[in-house]
Parts: sequence; structure tokens; C-alpha cells
Amino acid sequence: MKEVSKQQSETARGSAVLSSSTQLQEISNRFEGKHPLEVLHWVNHTFQPSEVAMATGFGAEGVVLIDMIVSVNREIPIFYLDTEVLFPETYQLRDRLEGRYGIRFVRYASALTVERQAELYGNNLWERNPDLCCTIRKVEPLREALQGRSAWITAVRRDQSPFRANAGIVEHDKKFGLIKVNPLAGWTKKEVWKYIMENNLPYNPLYDQGYTSIGCTHCTTPVMTGEDERAGRWRGFQKTECGLHYTDTSAQQERRTQ
Ligand code: SF4
Repeated sequence: MKEVSKQQSETARGSAVLSSSTQLQEISNRFEGKHPLEVLHWVNHTFQPSEVAMATGFGAEGVVLIDMIVSVNREIPIFYLDTEVLFPETYQLRDRLEGRYGIRFVRYASALTVERQAELYGNNLWERNPDLCCTIRKVEPLREALQGRSAWITAVRRDQSPFRANAGIVEHDKKFGLIKVNPLAGWTKKEVWKYIMENNLPYNPLYDQGYTSIGCTHCTTPVMTGEDERAGRWRGFQKTECGLHYTDTSAQQERRTQ
């Protein structure tokens, strides 16, 4: 079957067929070694813009995907999780990207302000229980952002961390109950930065100050030479993931029972 007719067939059959893990695996395998733009064109042919959304924290990979998605279909929503403790440089980059592409990123945030969180759970929760803090400020807003959608697009790369090493290009996201598309899964850090430089894309200036993965101000530090790419996140804790990708945590259970 030709590629186009395969895509038309998938579109016609809808998300019921796409919810089959075997079919997702076949689609994912088909995209191995292909350019991320081909994956995004498939997403665009398979889902209505309202059925899908891209999540970004405005990292280097996110900037690359935003550039690609806008070129494929600028109607596909792109959202971010505003923990209210992101770096000023991150907010500035958000504004710059909005100006460059003429789009508005959709903001999702916790119903709890940082102040209210402190009243309920004590000051500086991120120092005592970062899993719970991430659940409140990231995971719950993400759940809201994905409500009613069939698929989401992320900027996950396999070589970012061991947790991400088995990420499919197209896979079933059991935790949030929809399809997860990782167009950059097979790309290296070098390929990401090559794309940024060749296309003269703006990026977070903190990358030039030793940061290799940028999250909240309280939980992000620069990394030393030879350290893992995500070693600067949650220093002093075993934690390397927010809970958005490939992990579940006891903190989420704790929060659900409160
Ligand atoms: S990264 Fe830190 S401050 Fe941000 S939500 Fe997680 S624990 Fe809280």
C-alpha cells in the first residue's frame, strides 16, 4: 500500500483502530529513521487539530518542534505548563516565539498558586517532596490540557535519559489514556542543535550558561562536563522526571487521596 493511501486509510478508520497497540507499533516502526516532519504530516492527516496538541517547556527540542509544527499546520494547538516558577528567560523565549510565528501558546497552570500551595503543604515543597510539587504544578495541569484529546506531541528524545530510552515515535500513553507522538525520539542532541543553528531559531540563553535541561528555577542547575543531560534537574534527589513521561510516583497517589 502506498504511503498516502495508508495515511488516508488510517484517517478514515479513526482513533478506534489507532488505539490498538499493535497498529501503533507498526506505525511507529514505519517512522524509524524518517524525518520528524514526516511524523508531523501523519499526525496532521490522521487527527483534526482539536484532537491533538503539542506540549512544550520551550527547551531546545521544543523550539525545533514548534518550528516544524507551524510549517505543517499552525492550527495545531501548542501548550505549556506554567508552574509559575519558570525562569524569566523561559517566559521571554515564549514571547519571542509568539512574535516570530504569530501564534499564541495555550497556558495551563495549577489551580493552586505557589502561595496557596505553601499554605496547604508548607513552604518550599520542592525541597521536601518534589514529586508532590510536580504532581500539583505539572501533572494535574497536563491532565487538564489533554482532556478530550486523542493524541499529544512531545519533544522527548530517547538519549535524554534511561527512562526515555524506549520511547516509541508513536505509542499508547497508558498513564494519560491517549496516543503519544514523539517525532524527535530518534534524534540526537547534536541533530537538534544543528536544526536550531541552520534555521536561526531563538533558544533559551541559559543553554549558553551550562544548563542542558531547563525546568523550574528551584529545581534546575547547570551541569558539569561529563554529567548526564538531565543531571541538573532535582539535584540531591533520585528524581529525573516530572511525572509527565514514563513514570508514576507515590506522590500522585498521595495527592489523589487528599
Ligand atoms: S520542577 Fe520543582 S518547582 Fe517545578 S513543579 Fe517540579 S518540584 Fe515543583
